[in-house]
Amino acid sequence: MNKDTLEKQLYDEEAETFRNQLATVTDDGKRKWVYPKKPSGRFHRARIAVSAVLLLILVLTPFIKVNGHPFMLFDFLNRKFILFGVLFGPHDFHLLVIAMISLIVFVILFTAVFGRIFCGWACPQTIFMEMVFRKIEYWIEGDSKDQRKLKSAPWTGSKVFKKFSKQIIFFAIAFFISNIFLSYIIGIDELIKIITDPPSEHLQGLFAITIFSGIFYFVFSNFREQACTIVCPYGRLQGVLLDRDSIVIAYDNVRGEPRKKFKKDEGWENRGDCIECYQCVEVCPTGIDIRNGIQLECVNCTVCIDACDDIMDKINRPRGLIRYASLNSIQNPIRSGSDGKTKWRFTPRAIGYSALLSVLITVLFVLLLNRTEFSVTVLRTAGLLYQEQPNDMISNLYDLNMVNKTFDEIPVTLKLVPRNPLGENIEGELKLVGNQIVLEPQGNLDAKFLVLLPKDELTKMSTPIDIGIYSGDNLIKKITTSFLSPMKKKDE
Ligand code: SF4
Ligand code: SF4
Repeated sequence: MNKDTLEKQLYDEEAETFRNQLATVTDDGKRKWVYPKKPSGRFHRARIAVSAVLLLILVLTPFIKVNGHPFMLFDFLNRKFILFGVLFGPHDFHLLVIAMISLIVFVILFTAVFGRIFCGWACPQTIFMEMVFRKIEYWIEGDSKDQRKLKSAPWTGSKVFKKFSKQIIFFAIAFFISNIFLSYIIGIDELIKIITDPPSEHLQGLFAITIFSGIFYFVFSNFREQACTIVCPYGRLQGVLLDRDSIVIAYDNVRGEPRKKFKKDEGWENRGDCIECYQCVEVCPTGIDIRNGIQLECVNCTVCIDACDDIMDKINRPRGLIRYASLNSIQNPIRSGSDGKTKWRFTPRAIGYSALLSVLITVLFVLLLNRTEFSVTVLRTAGLLYQEQPNDMISNLYDLNMVNKTFDEIPVTLKLVPRNPLGENIEGELKLVGNQIVLEPQGNLDAKFLVLLPKDELTKMSTPIDIGIYSGDNLIKKITTSFLSPMKKKDE
Protein backbone atom coordinates (compact mmCIF):
# COMPACT_ATOMS: atom_id res chain seq x y z
CA MET A 1 0.00 0.00 0.00
CA ASN A 2 1.50 3.36 -1.00
CA LYS A 3 1.77 6.38 1.26
CA ASP A 4 -1.01 8.40 -0.39
CA THR A 5 -3.48 5.55 -0.06
CA LEU A 6 -2.50 5.16 3.57
CA GLU A 7 -2.95 8.85 4.29
CA LYS A 8 -6.32 8.74 2.57
CA GLN A 9 -7.31 5.73 4.60
CA LEU A 10 -6.18 7.37 7.82
CA TYR A 11 -8.04 10.59 7.22
CA ASP A 12 -11.00 9.17 5.37
CA GLU A 13 -14.09 10.63 6.97
CA GLU A 14 -15.77 7.30 7.33
CA ALA A 15 -12.72 5.75 8.97
CA GLU A 16 -12.69 8.61 11.45
CA THR A 17 -16.23 8.04 12.76
CA PHE A 18 -14.81 6.25 15.81
CA ARG A 19 -13.66 9.67 17.00
CA ASN A 20 -17.26 10.88 17.25
CA GLN A 21 -17.96 9.08 20.49
CA LEU A 22 -16.19 7.47 23.41
CA ALA A 23 -15.70 3.72 23.20
CA THR A 24 -17.24 3.37 26.64
CA VAL A 25 -20.46 5.26 25.88
CA THR A 26 -23.44 3.81 24.00
CA ASP A 27 -25.26 5.66 21.21
CA ASP A 28 -27.92 6.80 23.68
CA GLY A 29 -25.27 8.15 26.06
CA LYS A 30 -25.22 5.31 28.60
CA ARG A 31 -22.09 3.85 30.16
CA LYS A 32 -20.69 0.80 28.35
CA TRP A 33 -18.96 -1.27 31.04
CA VAL A 34 -15.54 -2.53 29.89
CA TYR A 35 -14.69 -6.18 30.57
CA PRO A 36 -11.06 -6.40 29.41
CA LYS A 37 -9.60 -9.84 28.90
CA LYS A 38 -6.96 -10.92 31.43
CA PRO A 39 -3.60 -9.64 30.12
CA SER A 40 -0.40 -11.66 29.86
CA GLY A 41 2.93 -11.35 28.08
CA ARG A 42 6.40 -9.88 28.42
CA PHE A 43 5.36 -6.21 28.69
CA HIS A 44 2.71 -7.08 31.25
CA ARG A 45 5.25 -9.00 33.35
CA ALA A 46 7.64 -6.05 33.17
CA ARG A 47 4.85 -3.69 34.22
CA ILE A 48 3.97 -5.91 37.18
CA ALA A 49 7.61 -5.69 38.34
CA VAL A 50 7.76 -1.90 37.88
CA SER A 51 4.38 -1.45 39.62
CA ALA A 52 5.50 -3.58 42.57
CA VAL A 53 8.60 -1.41 43.05
CA LEU A 54 6.61 1.84 42.73
CA LEU A 55 3.91 0.64 45.14
CA LEU A 56 6.59 -0.35 47.64
CA ILE A 57 8.19 3.09 47.36
CA LEU A 58 4.78 4.77 47.77
CA VAL A 59 3.93 2.77 50.90
CA LEU A 60 7.35 2.93 52.56
CA THR A 61 8.32 6.57 51.89
CA PRO A 62 6.13 8.07 54.68
CA PHE A 63 8.02 5.89 57.19
CA ILE A 64 11.44 7.27 56.16
CA LYS A 65 12.75 10.00 58.43
CA VAL A 66 15.73 12.33 58.23
CA ASN A 67 16.87 13.63 61.65
CA GLY A 68 13.45 12.74 63.05
CA HIS A 69 11.54 14.57 60.30
CA PRO A 70 9.67 13.11 57.32
CA PHE A 71 11.66 12.52 54.14
CA MET A 72 8.67 13.72 52.09
CA LEU A 73 5.73 15.80 53.31
CA PHE A 74 3.14 17.81 51.41
CA ASP A 75 1.32 19.73 54.14
CA PHE A 76 -0.80 21.96 51.91
CA LEU A 77 -2.91 23.22 54.82
CA ASN A 78 0.08 24.70 56.67
CA ARG A 79 2.00 25.45 53.45
CA LYS A 80 4.86 23.27 54.63
CA PHE A 81 6.66 20.95 52.25
CA ILE A 82 9.57 18.60 52.94
CA LEU A 83 11.29 17.28 49.85
CA PHE A 84 14.12 14.78 50.33
CA GLY A 85 14.45 15.91 53.96
CA VAL A 86 14.72 19.65 53.15
CA LEU A 87 12.04 21.93 54.51
CA PHE A 88 10.34 24.42 52.19
CA GLY A 89 7.76 26.96 53.34
CA PRO A 90 5.79 29.96 52.11
CA HIS A 91 9.06 31.96 51.85
CA ASP A 92 10.17 29.51 49.13
CA PHE A 93 7.17 30.20 46.93
CA HIS A 94 9.40 31.43 44.06
CA LEU A 95 11.26 28.09 44.10
CA LEU A 96 7.96 26.24 43.98
CA VAL A 97 6.79 28.30 41.00
CA ILE A 98 10.03 27.66 39.04
CA ALA A 99 9.95 23.95 40.00
CA MET A 100 6.34 23.68 38.82
CA ILE A 101 7.09 25.42 35.50
CA SER A 102 10.13 23.12 35.03
CA LEU A 103 7.96 20.10 35.74
CA ILE A 104 5.35 21.21 33.20
CA VAL A 105 8.03 21.81 30.52
CA PHE A 106 9.59 18.42 31.37
CA VAL A 107 6.21 16.70 30.99
CA ILE A 108 5.63 18.45 27.64
CA LEU A 109 9.11 17.46 26.40
CA PHE A 110 8.84 13.90 27.67
CA THR A 111 5.40 13.49 26.11
CA ALA A 112 6.49 15.00 22.77
CA VAL A 113 9.29 12.41 22.61
CA PHE A 114 7.96 9.33 24.42
CA GLY A 115 4.19 9.82 24.32
CA ARG A 116 2.19 8.57 27.30
CA ILE A 117 4.75 6.18 28.77
CA PHE A 118 4.04 7.68 32.19
CA CYS A 119 0.34 6.72 31.97
CA GLY A 120 1.05 3.07 31.31
CA TRP A 121 4.02 2.53 33.57
CA ALA A 122 3.95 4.98 36.46
CA CYS A 123 0.57 6.71 36.87
CA PRO A 124 -0.94 5.77 40.27
CA GLN A 125 -4.41 5.57 38.70
CA THR A 126 -3.28 2.95 36.13
CA ILE A 127 -1.15 1.05 38.63
CA PHE A 128 -3.91 0.79 41.25
CA MET A 129 -6.61 0.07 38.67
CA GLU A 130 -4.80 -2.51 36.54
CA MET A 131 -2.34 -4.02 38.99
CA VAL A 132 -4.38 -4.05 42.19
CA PHE A 133 -8.14 -3.72 41.76
CA ARG A 134 -8.44 -5.44 38.37
CA LYS A 135 -6.28 -8.34 39.57
CA ILE A 136 -8.58 -8.86 42.55
CA GLU A 137 -11.56 -8.74 40.22
CA TYR A 138 -10.04 -11.47 38.00
CA TRP A 139 -9.26 -13.52 41.11
CA ILE A 140 -12.84 -13.33 42.46
CA GLU A 141 -14.98 -13.12 39.32
CA GLY A 142 -12.75 -14.74 36.70
CA ASP A 143 -11.80 -13.56 33.22
CA SER A 144 -13.90 -11.20 31.09
CA LYS A 145 -16.28 -13.92 29.84
CA ASP A 146 -16.98 -15.13 33.41
CA GLN A 147 -17.52 -11.55 34.56
CA ARG A 148 -20.09 -10.95 31.80
CA LYS A 149 -21.82 -14.21 32.69
CA LEU A 150 -21.89 -13.30 36.38
CA LYS A 151 -23.36 -9.90 35.56
CA SER A 152 -26.34 -11.39 33.75
CA ALA A 153 -26.75 -14.36 36.16
CA PRO A 154 -29.55 -14.33 38.76
CA TRP A 155 -28.68 -13.29 42.32
CA THR A 156 -27.74 -16.68 43.74
CA GLY A 157 -25.81 -17.18 46.97
CA SER A 158 -22.56 -17.55 45.02
CA LYS A 159 -23.11 -14.28 43.08
CA VAL A 160 -23.97 -12.38 46.27
CA PHE A 161 -20.84 -13.76 47.96
CA LYS A 162 -18.58 -12.85 45.01
CA LYS A 163 -19.99 -9.37 44.51
CA PHE A 164 -20.02 -8.44 48.21
CA SER A 165 -16.62 -9.89 49.03
CA LYS A 166 -15.15 -7.98 46.05
CA GLN A 167 -16.68 -4.70 47.22
CA ILE A 168 -15.53 -5.25 50.81
CA ILE A 169 -11.96 -5.95 49.65
CA PHE A 170 -12.12 -2.93 47.33
CA PHE A 171 -13.21 -0.68 50.19
CA ALA A 172 -10.51 -2.07 52.50
CA ILE A 173 -7.83 -1.31 49.88
CA ALA A 174 -9.32 2.14 49.20
CA PHE A 175 -9.16 2.78 52.97
CA PHE A 176 -5.52 1.66 53.03
CA ILE A 177 -4.64 3.89 50.04
CA SER A 178 -6.36 6.88 51.64
CA ASN A 179 -4.29 6.35 54.81
CA ILE A 180 -1.09 6.24 52.75
CA PHE A 181 -1.94 9.42 50.86
CA LEU A 182 -2.99 11.15 54.07
CA SER A 183 0.37 10.26 55.64
CA TYR A 184 2.04 12.29 52.87
CA ILE A 185 -0.07 15.30 53.91
CA ILE A 186 -0.09 15.13 57.72
CA GLY A 187 2.92 12.88 58.36
CA ILE A 188 3.02 9.27 59.53
CA ASP A 189 3.21 10.20 63.26
CA GLU A 190 0.01 12.21 63.08
CA LEU A 191 -1.67 9.41 61.13
CA ILE A 192 -0.66 6.81 63.74
CA LYS A 193 -2.12 9.09 66.42
CA ILE A 194 -5.41 9.26 64.49
CA ILE A 195 -5.46 5.46 64.23
CA THR A 196 -4.50 4.71 67.84
CA ASP A 197 -6.15 7.56 69.81
CA PRO A 198 -9.87 7.55 70.64
CA PRO A 199 -11.80 8.64 67.48
CA SER A 200 -13.35 11.61 69.31
CA GLU A 201 -9.90 13.23 69.57
CA HIS A 202 -9.32 13.33 65.81
CA LEU A 203 -12.69 13.99 64.24
CA GLN A 204 -11.17 16.11 61.45
CA GLY A 205 -8.61 13.42 60.55
CA LEU A 206 -11.24 10.69 60.58
CA PHE A 207 -13.47 12.83 58.40
CA ALA A 208 -10.60 13.28 55.88
CA ILE A 209 -9.83 9.53 55.83
CA THR A 210 -13.51 8.69 55.29
CA ILE A 211 -13.83 11.17 52.40
CA PHE A 212 -10.57 9.98 50.79
CA SER A 213 -11.59 6.32 51.16
CA GLY A 214 -15.00 7.01 49.62
CA ILE A 215 -13.42 8.80 46.64
CA PHE A 216 -10.82 6.06 46.02
CA TYR A 217 -13.48 3.35 46.39
CA PHE A 218 -15.78 5.10 43.90
CA VAL A 219 -12.95 5.70 41.39
CA PHE A 220 -11.65 2.12 41.39
CA SER A 221 -14.90 0.22 41.78
CA ASN A 222 -17.05 2.30 39.46
CA PHE A 223 -15.52 5.30 37.69
CA ARG A 224 -12.43 3.38 36.50
CA GLU A 225 -11.11 4.19 33.00
CA GLN A 226 -13.25 7.35 32.89
CA ALA A 227 -10.72 8.98 35.24
CA CYS A 228 -8.26 8.77 32.31
CA THR A 229 -10.64 9.43 29.43
CA ILE A 230 -12.85 12.14 30.93
CA VAL A 231 -11.17 13.73 33.94
CA CYS A 232 -7.38 13.57 33.57
CA PRO A 233 -6.11 16.86 32.03
CA TYR A 234 -2.87 15.18 30.92
CA GLY A 235 -4.84 12.67 28.84
CA ARG A 236 -6.93 15.40 27.27
CA LEU A 237 -3.83 17.38 26.29
CA GLN A 238 -2.39 14.58 24.18
CA GLY A 239 -3.77 16.12 20.99
CA VAL A 240 -1.45 19.11 21.38
CA LEU A 241 1.47 17.38 23.10
CA LEU A 242 2.02 14.57 20.60
CA ASP A 243 3.28 14.89 17.06
CA ARG A 244 4.10 12.46 14.26
CA ASP A 245 7.56 11.81 15.75
CA SER A 246 6.33 10.97 19.26
CA ILE A 247 6.82 7.36 20.24
CA VAL A 248 3.45 5.87 21.13
CA ILE A 249 1.83 2.46 21.14
CA ALA A 250 0.83 2.18 17.50
CA TYR A 251 -0.63 -0.31 15.10
CA ASP A 252 1.57 -0.71 12.01
CA ASN A 253 -1.08 -0.19 9.35
CA VAL A 254 1.56 -0.43 6.56
CA ARG A 255 2.18 -4.00 7.59
CA GLY A 256 -1.27 -4.86 8.91
CA GLU A 257 -3.55 -3.67 6.09
CA PRO A 258 -5.61 -4.84 4.34
CA ARG A 259 -6.72 -6.86 7.33
CA LYS A 260 -8.46 -10.15 6.70
CA LYS A 261 -9.52 -13.26 8.64
CA PHE A 262 -6.81 -15.91 8.80
CA LYS A 263 -7.22 -19.14 6.91
CA LYS A 264 -4.50 -21.76 7.19
CA ASP A 265 -4.49 -22.77 3.52
CA GLU A 266 -4.30 -19.17 2.22
CA GLY A 267 -0.95 -17.44 1.69
CA TRP A 268 0.08 -13.94 2.77
CA GLU A 269 -0.03 -12.32 -0.68
CA ASN A 270 -2.29 -9.30 -1.22
CA ARG A 271 -3.19 -8.97 2.42
CA GLY A 272 -1.78 -7.51 5.62
CA ASP A 273 -0.69 -9.26 8.79
CA CYS A 274 -3.76 -8.29 10.84
CA ILE A 275 -6.05 -11.29 11.00
CA GLU A 276 -9.03 -9.48 12.52
CA CYS A 277 -8.90 -11.56 15.68
CA TYR A 278 -9.84 -8.58 17.90
CA GLN A 279 -7.55 -9.76 20.69
CA CYS A 280 -6.02 -6.25 20.91
CA VAL A 281 -9.51 -4.82 21.40
CA GLU A 282 -10.62 -7.46 23.88
CA VAL A 283 -7.73 -6.82 26.27
CA CYS A 284 -7.93 -3.02 26.12
CA PRO A 285 -8.95 -1.59 29.53
CA THR A 286 -10.34 1.55 27.90
CA GLY A 287 -12.32 -0.38 25.29
CA ILE A 288 -10.71 1.08 22.16
CA ASP A 289 -9.42 -0.39 18.92
CA ILE A 290 -5.79 0.70 18.57
CA ARG A 291 -5.98 -0.06 14.86
CA ASN A 292 -7.95 3.17 14.45
CA GLY A 293 -4.80 5.13 15.28
CA ILE A 294 -3.69 7.26 18.24
CA GLN A 295 -6.63 8.01 20.50
CA LEU A 296 -7.17 10.10 23.59
CA GLU A 297 -8.39 7.03 25.48
CA CYS A 298 -5.18 5.04 24.98
CA VAL A 299 -3.26 4.95 28.28
CA ASN A 300 -0.28 3.15 26.71
CA CYS A 301 -0.77 0.15 28.96
CA THR A 302 0.98 -2.19 26.45
CA VAL A 303 -1.48 -5.08 26.86
CA CYS A 304 -2.54 -4.87 23.19
CA ILE A 305 1.15 -5.31 22.21
CA ASP A 306 1.31 -8.51 24.25
CA ALA A 307 -2.01 -9.77 22.87
CA CYS A 308 -1.02 -9.14 19.25
CA ASP A 309 2.50 -10.57 19.71
CA ASP A 310 0.89 -13.73 21.04
CA ILE A 311 -1.26 -13.97 17.91
CA MET A 312 1.73 -13.28 15.63
CA ASP A 313 3.64 -16.12 17.35
CA LYS A 314 0.71 -18.46 16.75
CA ILE A 315 0.44 -17.63 13.02
CA ASN A 316 4.21 -17.52 12.52
CA ARG A 317 4.46 -13.86 11.62
CA PRO A 318 7.02 -11.44 13.14
CA ARG A 319 6.04 -9.76 16.41
CA GLY A 320 5.50 -6.01 16.57
CA LEU A 321 2.40 -5.42 14.46
CA ILE A 322 1.39 -3.30 17.45
CA ARG A 323 4.49 -1.79 19.06
CA TYR A 324 6.16 1.33 20.45
CA ALA A 325 6.66 3.44 17.31
CA SER A 326 6.08 6.93 15.92
CA LEU A 327 3.62 7.61 13.12
CA ASN A 328 6.48 8.81 10.93
CA SER A 329 8.55 5.69 11.53
CA ILE A 330 5.59 3.53 10.46
CA GLN A 331 4.71 5.53 7.38
CA ASN A 332 8.30 6.31 6.33
CA PRO A 333 10.15 3.13 7.24
CA ILE A 334 13.24 4.45 5.37
CA ARG A 335 13.80 6.79 8.30
CA SER A 336 13.81 3.83 10.65
CA GLY A 337 16.83 1.73 11.48
CA SER A 338 17.73 -1.16 9.20
CA ASP A 339 16.33 -3.52 11.83
CA GLY A 340 12.93 -1.87 11.36
CA LYS A 341 13.07 -0.29 14.83
CA THR A 342 12.23 3.37 15.29
CA LYS A 343 15.21 5.65 15.04
CA TRP A 344 14.95 8.41 17.57
CA ARG A 345 14.94 11.88 16.04
CA PHE A 346 15.67 15.05 18.00
CA THR A 347 12.98 17.26 16.43
CA PRO A 348 13.19 21.08 16.45
CA ARG A 349 10.26 21.04 18.88
CA ALA A 350 12.14 18.76 21.28
CA ILE A 351 15.27 20.95 20.92
CA GLY A 352 13.23 24.05 21.85
CA TYR A 353 11.68 22.40 24.93
CA SER A 354 15.08 21.02 25.98
CA ALA A 355 16.70 24.46 25.76
CA LEU A 356 13.91 26.03 27.83
CA LEU A 357 14.09 23.22 30.37
CA SER A 358 17.88 23.57 30.68
CA VAL A 359 17.51 27.29 31.44
CA LEU A 360 14.80 26.67 34.05
CA ILE A 361 16.74 23.88 35.75
CA THR A 362 19.91 26.00 35.84
CA VAL A 363 18.00 28.88 37.46
CA LEU A 364 16.41 26.49 39.96
CA PHE A 365 19.76 24.95 40.87
CA VAL A 366 21.42 28.34 41.35
CA LEU A 367 18.56 29.45 43.61
CA LEU A 368 18.65 26.19 45.56
CA LEU A 369 22.41 26.38 46.04
CA ASN A 370 22.15 29.96 47.31
CA ARG A 371 19.18 29.20 49.52
CA THR A 372 19.97 29.86 53.18
CA GLU A 373 18.22 28.31 56.16
CA PHE A 374 17.92 31.66 57.87
CA SER A 375 17.03 34.93 56.19
CA VAL A 376 17.11 38.43 57.64
CA THR A 377 15.91 41.77 56.31
CA VAL A 378 16.79 45.04 58.03
CA LEU A 379 15.24 48.27 56.79
CA ARG A 380 15.24 51.71 58.36
CA THR A 381 11.68 52.43 59.49
CA ALA A 382 9.88 54.23 56.69
CA GLY A 383 9.21 57.96 57.15
CA LEU A 384 11.83 58.49 59.89
CA LEU A 385 15.31 59.98 59.42
CA TYR A 386 17.16 60.25 62.73
CA GLN A 387 16.35 61.24 66.29
CA GLU A 388 18.45 63.48 68.58
CA GLN A 389 18.94 61.73 71.94
CA PRO A 390 20.34 62.92 75.32
CA ASN A 391 24.13 62.78 75.83
CA ASP A 392 24.85 63.87 72.25
CA MET A 393 23.66 60.64 70.80
CA ILE A 394 21.83 60.14 67.49
CA SER A 395 19.41 57.24 66.99
CA ASN A 396 17.88 55.48 63.96
CA LEU A 397 14.90 53.12 64.17
CA TYR A 398 14.98 49.89 62.13
CA ASP A 399 12.47 47.19 61.13
CA LEU A 400 13.71 43.65 61.38
CA ASN A 401 12.24 40.59 59.68
CA MET A 402 13.69 37.12 60.26
CA VAL A 403 12.68 33.78 58.76
CA ASN A 404 13.79 30.50 60.30
CA LYS A 405 13.61 27.78 57.61
CA THR A 406 14.88 24.99 59.86
CA PHE A 407 13.11 22.45 62.08
CA ASP A 408 14.77 23.94 65.21
CA GLU A 409 14.01 26.85 67.53
CA ILE A 410 16.68 29.57 67.26
CA PRO A 411 17.25 32.07 70.12
CA VAL A 412 18.76 35.17 68.56
CA THR A 413 20.71 38.21 69.83
CA LEU A 414 21.62 41.29 67.84
CA LYS A 415 24.92 43.12 68.24
CA LEU A 416 26.09 46.31 66.64
CA VAL A 417 29.34 46.36 64.74
CA PRO A 418 29.51 50.05 63.88
CA ARG A 419 32.34 51.53 61.81
CA ASN A 420 33.62 54.93 60.72
CA PRO A 421 34.78 55.72 57.13
CA LEU A 422 38.19 54.21 57.90
CA GLY A 423 36.55 50.96 58.85
CA GLU A 424 37.30 51.49 62.54
CA ASN A 425 34.71 50.72 65.19
CA ILE A 426 32.44 53.42 66.52
CA GLU A 427 31.17 52.83 70.03
CA GLY A 428 27.40 52.60 69.90
CA GLU A 429 24.40 50.85 71.29
CA LEU A 430 21.66 48.58 69.91
CA LYS A 431 18.35 48.52 71.78
CA LEU A 432 15.87 45.84 70.90
CA VAL A 433 12.18 46.56 71.43
CA GLY A 434 11.51 43.58 73.73
CA ASN A 435 14.39 41.77 75.38
CA GLN A 436 15.05 38.58 73.49
CA ILE A 437 14.11 37.06 70.18
CA VAL A 438 13.29 33.39 69.87
CA LEU A 439 12.57 32.19 66.37
CA GLU A 440 10.10 29.33 66.24
CA PRO A 441 10.85 26.41 63.89
CA GLN A 442 9.78 27.54 60.38
CA GLY A 443 8.84 30.82 62.05
CA ASN A 444 8.61 34.31 60.61
CA LEU A 445 9.28 37.14 63.07
CA ASP A 446 8.97 40.94 62.84
CA ALA A 447 10.65 43.24 65.38
CA LYS A 448 12.00 46.78 65.80
CA PHE A 449 15.30 48.00 67.20
CA LEU A 450 17.12 51.29 67.79
CA VAL A 451 20.76 52.02 67.01
CA LEU A 452 22.39 54.86 68.97
CA LEU A 453 25.74 56.35 67.89
CA PRO A 454 27.67 59.35 69.35
CA LYS A 455 27.09 62.48 67.28
CA ASP A 456 30.80 63.44 67.39
CA GLU A 457 31.87 60.27 65.61
CA LEU A 458 29.49 60.73 62.67
CA THR A 459 31.31 62.61 59.91
CA LYS A 460 28.83 61.94 57.08
CA MET A 461 25.05 62.11 56.65
CA SER A 462 24.98 58.37 56.00
CA THR A 463 27.31 56.01 57.83
CA PRO A 464 27.44 52.31 56.95
CA ILE A 465 26.99 50.04 59.94
CA ASP A 466 27.10 46.26 60.41
CA ILE A 467 24.60 44.39 62.53
CA GLY A 468 25.55 40.90 63.65
CA ILE A 469 22.85 38.28 64.26
CA TYR A 470 24.11 35.76 66.83
CA SER A 471 22.77 32.45 68.07
CA GLY A 472 24.70 32.02 71.31
CA ASP A 473 28.25 33.01 70.37
CA ASN A 474 27.85 32.02 66.73
CA LEU A 475 27.52 34.79 64.19
CA ILE A 476 24.86 33.42 61.84
CA LYS A 477 24.39 36.47 59.66
CA LYS A 478 25.94 39.91 59.23
CA ILE A 479 23.77 42.65 57.72
CA THR A 480 25.13 45.94 56.41
CA THR A 481 22.80 48.93 56.51
CA SER A 482 23.12 52.72 56.75
CA PHE A 483 22.78 55.07 59.69
CA LEU A 484 21.50 58.62 59.05
CA SER A 485 22.72 61.62 61.01
CA PRO A 486 22.50 65.44 60.72
CA MET A 487 24.88 67.30 58.35
CA LYS A 488 28.02 68.50 60.23
CA LYS A 489 28.37 72.28 60.45
CA LYS A 490 31.62 73.68 59.06
CA ASP A 491 33.02 74.79 62.42
CA GLU A 492 32.17 71.45 64.10
S1 SF4 B 1 -4.41 -8.53 17.82
FE1 SF4 B 1 -3.13 -8.05 16.06
S2 SF4 B 1 -3.90 -9.40 14.51
FE2 SF4 B 1 -5.47 -9.39 16.05
S3 SF4 B 1 -6.86 -7.76 15.44
FE3 SF4 B 1 -5.37 -6.83 16.76
S4 SF4 B 1 -3.81 -6.05 15.40
FE4 SF4 B 1 -5.02 -7.53 14.22
S1 SF4 C 1 -4.96 0.67 22.93
FE1 SF4 C 1 -3.49 -0.76 23.77
S2 SF4 C 1 -2.07 0.49 24.94
FE2 SF4 C 1 -3.87 1.74 24.50
S3 SF4 C 1 -5.13 1.51 26.33
FE3 SF4 C 1 -5.83 -0.01 24.83
S4 SF4 C 1 -4.66 -1.83 25.33
FE4 SF4 C 1 -3.66 -0.16 26.37
